[in-house]
Amino acid sequence: MESSRVLGLVVLAEEGINATVAGERGAVDVLKTYVEAHFGEVRFKDSVSEMCPFHRVSVDIRREIVASKNDGLPLPPGDDHHLSPSEWHAMLAGPNPKTVIDTRNRYETQLGMFEGAVDPDLKSFGDWGGYLDRAEIPRDQPVMIYCTGGIRCEKAIFELRSRGFEEVYQLRDGILGYLEQFPEGKYRGECFVFDDRVALDAHLNPTTKAGICPGCGLPATNKFDCAWCGSVCFCCDDCRPVWEGVCSKTCRDRIRRHGCPTA
Ligand SMILES: [Zn+2]
Ligand SMILES: [Zn+2]
Repeated sequence: MESSRVLGLVVLAEEGINATVAGERGAVDVLKTYVEAHFGEVRFKDSVSEMCPFHRVSVDIRREIVASKNDGLPLPPGDDHHLSPSEWHAMLAGPNPKTVIDTRNRYETQLGMFEGAVDPDLKSFGDWGGYLDRAEIPRDQPVMIYCTGGIRCEKAIFELRSRGFEEVYQLRDGILGYLEQFPEGKYRGECFVFDDRVALDAHLNPTTKAGICPGCGLPATNKFDCAWCGSVCFCCDDCRPVWEGVCSKTCRDRIRRHGCPTA
């Protein structure tokens, strides 16, 4: 990967492979061909970015692709619970009652969600099972779940099934797959992604409305110019009082030492 200047994160586990990589189109195509030759058919999701959102190649070997608190969780059999973006769109728009639940973390849902979806306010995906035990989800109507790219739902759906929910559907390829086909559809806001782009808008372009908070490392939408270097930065509500309007630790140290440059 490195020699063809394709950078990104590859996660390997017994249950599968999940990778997000970036590079010039030709180089990415070569990698796709290589991956399919070795692992069979793979579902790729493409988006375009002017800058490379990764700085290196990382390969992580983990016990699970998505960390859950459920040991030895088998993947649900069959494929019938997946909805294509157009099936998902039609079901959302349809008149029948349903419960739509976002399986992502709260720092992701705050940037955007499907219209009418429930936010379980998860700190991490490990809290999903606990949420299901607490929440009073109607059992007489279908449950529709979604996440960024469809991977987390492969586990989320099992936890629903194991609690007796029979009619559960997941969005195949997640929000990113949906936005490829329905940029003006039922998703509201932007979609957090786990790389330097931070989030993608409805047309899968890197966001201009969100950035990573220098205080906590989570996405934030309060946009301002750094009081020291003037660069555009973002800060979350929690960190704002202690972060003093600067973009980084370096700028905070400088402003403390030298005082505000505009003062
Ligand atoms: Zn913060
Ligand atoms: Zn700065």
